[in-house]
Amino acid sequence: MENKRLLYQAATNENLFGSSPQVLAAMQQALNSVHGYPTPDAADLRHALAGKLGVQANEIVIGSGSAELISLLVRRFCGHDRESEVLTFTPSYPLYCHEAQALRISCTEIPLTSSYQVDVQALRRQLRPTTRLCFICNPNNPTGTYLTSTALEEVLDCLPAHVTTVVDEAYIEYATATDCADAVAMLARYPNLVVLRTFSKAYGLASVRIGYMVAQRHLIEQVLEVKQPYNVNQLAQVAALAALEDEHFLEMTVEATQTGKAKLEKALLKMGVQFWPSQGNFLLLDAGGYSADDIHNYLLANNILVRRADQHTLRLTIGPDEHQLYLLHMLQELLHPS
Ligand code: PMP
Repeated sequence: MENKRLLYQAATNENLFGSSPQVLAAMQQALNSVHGYPTPDAADLRHALAGKLGVQANEIVIGSGSAELISLLVRRFCGHDRESEVLTFTPSYPLYCHEAQALRISCTEIPLTSSYQVDVQALRRQLRPTTRLCFICNPNNPTGTYLTSTALEEVLDCLPAHVTTVVDEAYIEYATATDCADAVAMLARYPNLVVLRTFSKAYGLASVRIGYMVAQRHLIEQVLEVKQPYNVNQLAQVAALAALEDEHFLEMTVEATQTGKAKLEKALLKMGVQFWPSQGNFLLLDAGGYSADDIHNYLLANNILVRRADQHTLRLTIGPDEHQLYLLHMLQELLHPS
């Protein structure tokens, strides 16, 4: 297979099946009015999301990507008090700790169990009177593992009132497991729960930077204290509104990802490469007898970008057939040269 010019950007979990044509048309139209400031606090989008999620529009904050919201949460809940602490899990999304460390706030990463589940006993042991925030990613990046409703409730039940728990659902649209927790449905019962979602993944809008948080009003008010009024540009707001309307694109994405994942899993099994079952648009591979660095560098030299999760594992974004076949071909050449 001679495909060396193909670039497989499999390192950042974008939607490699593209973006909705309806969204692109709406953005094109919005280019006519870029002289004006964006709609403050993205009111139209919040109303559309509220209708979809069954919450009030004033229970939503829109951010310039969910990354901005992670930053605002850490700033608002920990920034005033250098003694405050952030808890999260490892392996998981590193930005939670990066944001804490940027403010010189202590961040503890609690190891997940050997099957990448949240260890509630370990979490209990790490709770302090100074713990302010706990970040949980579901489905988890980079493992693809997930919490069931029961498992998430067990976690939420053990967290005291002085801890705000942030459930980051960046990949929730991809989750097909029927018992995967839906944290938005739990908001009414847990006053200190925040749910984060994004348009960067399944909606295919990573470059326009737009995400949202949903929580009870008292938490929303606190985050609004540190949010800039025009934090989300108008093109992003227009794009997100159009993306919510194009349900067909979302369905197509989820289906193509499922199919692509199944094909990749089948081929990896045949090749003897181990991986973890994933609810996201990515797979975590075991580097086997190789170091993750070696495989990463070999693939990079062949125009395939994957993410090193640690020394033994690599994370790979699901993509179109052509890309995956090329990756499989290159892996085969490395692992089983003929
Ligand atoms: N949460 C998780 C778990 C992620 O993987 C990412 C991006 N990789 C983000 C949040 C941030 O996404 P964005 O800022 O693009 O919304």
